[in-house]
Amino acid sequence: MLRVGLTGGIGSGKSTVARRLAELGAVVIDADQLSREAVEPGSAGLAELIERFGEDVLDSSGALDRPALAAKAFADEQSRLDLNAIVHPRVAELTARRMAEAPADSVLVHDIPLLVEAGYAPNYHLVLIVDAAEDVRVQRLVGRGLAEQDARARIAAQATEEQRREVADVWLDNGGEVEDLLARVDELWKERLVPFERNLRLHQR
Ligand code: ATP
Repeated sequence: MLRVGLTGGIGSGKSTVARRLAELGAVVIDADQLSREAVEPGSAGLAELIERFGEDVLDSSGALDRPALAAKAFADEQSRLDLNAIVHPRVAELTARRMAEAPADSVLVHDIPLLVEAGYAPNYHLVLIVDAAEDVRVQRLVGRGLAEQDARARIAAQATEEQRREVADVWLDNGGEVEDLLARVDELWKERLVPFERNLRLHQR
C-alpha cells in the first residue's frame, strides 16, 4: 500500500484533486469527514464533548453545533487542549481503521488540510501539495460565498507556502484551468503513483 498525504491551503483545490484520484482508483480518506464522524449524533465522542462543554454545544436537532463549540473551545488554552484530547484520538482511530480496510495493493490518499501544520509529513511515502496564488484562492472562495476578509484571515492562519514547499514531494499548481489540473493528476497517477505502489509491493516480498 502506498500512503499519499494530500494537502494545501483553503481553496487550493484539494477536494478537486482527491475526487479525481478516487475516480482513478485511489482509496481516499477524507480527514474532514472523519472529524465529523468522530462526533456524530450517538457517538462516544459527542457524549464526551457534552460532558466537558455542556449541552449548549448541541443544536436543536441534537447534532453538534460547531460554531457554539468553537466559541467555547477557543476561549482559552485549556479548553482547546481538552477539545483536541477528545477529538484527535477518535479521528486517529477511524483513520487507522479505514487504512486497515483498504486492499493491500491500494494507493491510499489521505486528504488532510492540516498535514503541514500538524507535522505529519513523515507518515507518508509521498506528500502531494496543491496550491495557487493567494489572490486566486481568495477569488474562488469568494465565488463560493465566503467574505473576502474571512478568506484572507483563514489563509493567514495556515502554513505558509515556504513551509509547504519544505515537505512537498509533488507540487501541483492550480493557478490555471481545472482541466489542466486534472490532466496533471492523471499523469501523476499513471507515471508515478501506480509504479511507486507496485515497486513498494515488489520490495516487500
Ligand atoms: P477547502 O480548503 O475549502 O476544502 P479545497 O482546497 O478542497 O477547499 P476545492 O474545493 O477543490 O478546494 O476548490 C475550491 C473552489 O475553487 C471550488 O469551488 C472549486 O470548484 C474551485 N476551483 C478549484 N480549482 C479551480 C480552478 N483551477 N479554476 C477555477 N475554479 C477552481
